[in-house]
Amino acid sequence: MNRTADSSSKTLSAFQYRNASSRRTERKRLYCEGVTVADLAKRFGTPLYVYSASAIRARFRIFDRAFKGIPHTICYSVKANSNRSVLRLLAALRSGFDVVSGGELERLVRISRKTAAKSVFSGVGKTPAEMRAALKTGILLFNMESEAELHALAACAEGMKKVAPVALRVNPDVPAETHPYISTGLHQHKFGVPMQRARELYAQAAKYKYLRVAGISVHIGSQIRDVKPFTAAMEHVAALVRELREDGHTIRYVDAGGGLGISYQHPDLSDENSISSAEDFAAQVNQYAEAVMGPLRSLKVHLLLEPGRSIIAPAGALLTRVIYQKNNGTKKFLIVDAAMNDLIRPSLYSAYHEIVPAELKEHTPTEKVDVVGPICETGDFFARDRELPASEEGDLLALLDAGAYGMVLTTNYNTRPSPAEILVEGKSAKVVRRRQTVSDLMRLER
Ligand SMILES: *Cc1c(COP(=O)(O)O)cnc(C)c1O
Repeated sequence: MNRTADSSSKTLSAFQYRNASSRRTERKRLYCEGVTVADLAKRFGTPLYVYSASAIRARFRIFDRAFKGIPHTICYSVKANSNRSVLRLLAALRSGFDVVSGGELERLVRISRKTAAKSVFSGVGKTPAEMRAALKTGILLFNMESEAELHALAACAEGMKKVAPVALRVNPDVPAETHPYISTGLHQHKFGVPMQRARELYAQAAKYKYLRVAGISVHIGSQIRDVKPFTAAMEHVAALVRELREDGHTIRYVDAGGGLGISYQHPDLSDENSISSAEDFAAQVNQYAEAVMGPLRSLKVHLLLEPGRSIIAPAGALLTRVIYQKNNGTKKFLIVDAAMNDLIRPSLYSAYHEIVPAELKEHTPTEKVDVVGPICETGDFFARDRELPASEEGDLLALLDAGAYGMVLTTNYNTRPSPAEILVEGKSAKVVRRRQTVSDLMRLER
């Protein structure tokens, strides 16, 4: 491995084990960049979301570089992790954004109008109020998902005498191997308009004085690891671009959506580079870029990409402490202080998150456990029958790859305040969202 690859893989691995001291090499501590997660938990409490700024930057740059062969803008998907410090960090790298609500749009407006101008607005149910807010801000593209939405946007734009740049989100009817809840590109899904109706709807859009046809968009789902469905989708899109151009439309933008998956499994954590190596990610993104760009090569379009998970998931972890152990004779439970309200992915999608101790002692025996939260739901678990290094009450654990669809999906079920979020850079750790208090939760109630 050459030196540059080695150093970038270090920044890419948000979380790494390092030997605790040169004399007692049998103990390894989990670090986020230059600080131990144990130290973060002590300072800020648990449950705690921790993100590595360097890892976010490294991943964004690798993603951006993979598309250097074509004019493009990366529009980071705000819904994956919408903390404003994270958004600011990405905006500083000249990222655009993909928003799916007026609330997410407002986050961008508060960063800068320039940022909003590089951003797209997606989602099946944009309300007229949200459309007006986006028109007022001036965004790059409205991704429209139905005839009714087109009509509503045309009315808003006309009322404001402002031209709205639009793309239609088409549904390419390609299957993608992922959880059914996050697969979106099949005919039966609520998303987009059927390919067969696209030309007719573009013709309608072109008739509205205050709509300007500017592109076409597609998003086939999330956590898609195999890149072939992306090629299949883009082949359909490329064919449609040609037809639409023949019909006289200006199709400048092709928005390929997001959806590139990550590996949530890390078999050998004690190897410093294994948590996420730079080469693995670069190779995977390059493959993805080839799959997306291939069908578009001769079309002279500006490509938009909306990655969320692949940028931010591995850059974050959720720290939690073991409160109790419990053995019912056949099963052993670790009851931890985080719960499904803090990270719902295991309950919602049966998602797998690697769970690792903050301190790894060599020769610790493993044991099979269920890692569960304190909430009154059987679905409140993080892992079932998982072989983990034996731990004790008070031990600190990290749930890896929790940077995406973690904090944004928290709820206050059981009147549990949501965790704080910490952004680490080198040896510095900043609170980018303070822990909620029970008073915060009751503030809106009478
Ligand atoms: C959720 C979503 C994304 C981001 O998906 P990831 O799997 O996180 O990359 C991008 N675009 C649209 C329209 C989405 O709904």
